[in-house]
Amino acid sequence: MKLRSIRWRLVASYMLLALLTAGLVGALAISLVKRYTDQQEIDYLTSNANAAARQALPLMWPAANLYQLQQLAQTAAFLGNVRVRIQDEAHNVIADSGAKNGPDTFVMVLPPDAGNAPDSNPSMMSILLGHRRITRGQDPALGQLPPGTRYMLVERDDGPWGRRFVFQAVSNTPPSAGAGGGNLAAGDTTARSSRTIIVPVGDATRTIGYVTLSGAPDFGAETIAATARAILVAALAASLVAGIVALFVGRGLTAPLNKLALTASRMSAGDLTVRAHIHSNDETGQLAQQFNQMAERLQSSFAEIETERDTLRRFITDASHELRTPITALKTFNELLRNGAADDTNVRGEFLTESQTQIERLEWITQNLLDLSRLDSGFANLEVATHDAGEMLLAAAGAFRQGALDRGIALHVQTPEPPLAVRCDRARMEIALSNLFDNALKYTPAGGHISVGAASGNAAGTVTLWVENSGAGIDPADLPHIFERFYRGKGDGAHGSGLGLALVKSVVQAHGGHVEVQNDPGQGCRFVIDLPAAAG
Ligand code: ADP
Repeated sequence: MKLRSIRWRLVASYMLLALLTAGLVGALAISLVKRYTDQQEIDYLTSNANAAARQALPLMWPAANLYQLQQLAQTAAFLGNVRVRIQDEAHNVIADSGAKNGPDTFVMVLPPDAGNAPDSNPSMMSILLGHRRITRGQDPALGQLPPGTRYMLVERDDGPWGRRFVFQAVSNTPPSAGAGGGNLAAGDTTARSSRTIIVPVGDATRTIGYVTLSGAPDFGAETIAATARAILVAALAASLVAGIVALFVGRGLTAPLNKLALTASRMSAGDLTVRAHIHSNDETGQLAQQFNQMAERLQSSFAEIETERDTLRRFITDASHELRTPITALKTFNELLRNGAADDTNVRGEFLTESQTQIERLEWITQNLLDLSRLDSGFANLEVATHDAGEMLLAAAGAFRQGALDRGIALHVQTPEPPLAVRCDRARMEIALSNLFDNALKYTPAGGHISVGAASGNAAGTVTLWVENSGAGIDPADLPHIFERFYRGKGDGAHGSGLGLALVKSVVQAHGGHVEVQNDPGQGCRFVIDLPAAAG
């Protein structure tokens, strides 16, 4: 489990992406919620302030009834769970409900004849018990009421989804002062908004004061905090799911790559036969396909190199053998001559003639080997010129006429009409043709025939030269090898050096041509050379 592997990077990026997306969506959602709750708060405060302003108007004009205005401020503050301040025209505060920082309980003092119901026109006299919950009958403030006062506790319960008023009970038995009093719940910690709304008190023609509402419960902040918490949980869950999905996707992606890496490492360890078996249609599949093609080429190149190395090894063995044979013979003759054989004139003459043959053989082999290596390495300077193909054939055949005549072999040269011109190094091409004539003469039985000729090639811009002879033809087992260096036919004995056809092939290829043999076992064979024709 490498942390820097593609799989884990994929997991990390998926998770990060999920978190970022959730974060963006969350920020957008929170800003929308905030706009909505802000607007709700403004609407709420404004409508409460307008209601209070409407009620304050008759209490401020013509003279301000401060007691009733205070009652109004407290009642409005209780009902709206806000701080209510009433100011005169000069912005002096004439009534203030006090700061709001918790739930409060309102005591409505009921007229002595009123029923128990809260809607039976209770007196506006009220006591605000402040920001604490009370257990009925145990608050010392209630003890301040005159004995026999009927009152009702109204408790307000605020929540983000609305407000609830609980009318607790009616009593006319005030508790004894100081009794209990400790059983009060702690003041709540409702967050308060800092928004303030001021509306004028008056009518269209004049403003006689202002009602200011502030300190409303900050339900918006609570809603936003709850939304943020929900978004955070959703973001974490989404990123977890994204991570799990990425794990699976990553495995699908990296498994073929791992397979490919394993194949490559097995190849680098020397096994060129392995292939990546990945059958997907995506980029990895293409990569594997390319990899397999590369492996295929590599394998065949190695096979070629191995074949070439074997050929070279065989060539060196053959060449050293071929060179060693005449040298050994020469050494033997030399020693025999030194050890007294020279005294016998006949033996000496025989040894010298044989030595001459071996020296010529050595010369022939070394000359051909040199030619071959020059041609193959591209160092041979070909003196290419335009020559008449027929004339060249006649010149090369000339040297073999007498030999053919001596052996009763008919030699026929078919010159093309009209004449054909070829581009070649004449001296080298005549050597190649001579090798073919030489073989033809060697392998044609007495009474047979040799026929040579030239004609336009099958391919445009080429001239074909051929040397054909009757006879046994070439053993099919030898056919694939006859152009190899030092290869001699199985039943050939020690006839030649096995370099003749190799030289023909090298000369023809150096001219950009092609040589092949058409074999007819029992009837003879025909060597065909294709050369580039001279332009025009
Ligand atoms: P060499 O110089 O020994 O003849 P070559 O390279 O010329 O070697 O020929 C290779 C082999 O090809 C020969 O040993 C022979 O078996 C076969 N060969 C070449 N020319 C002919 C031919 N005209 N007829 C039959 N066999 C031939």
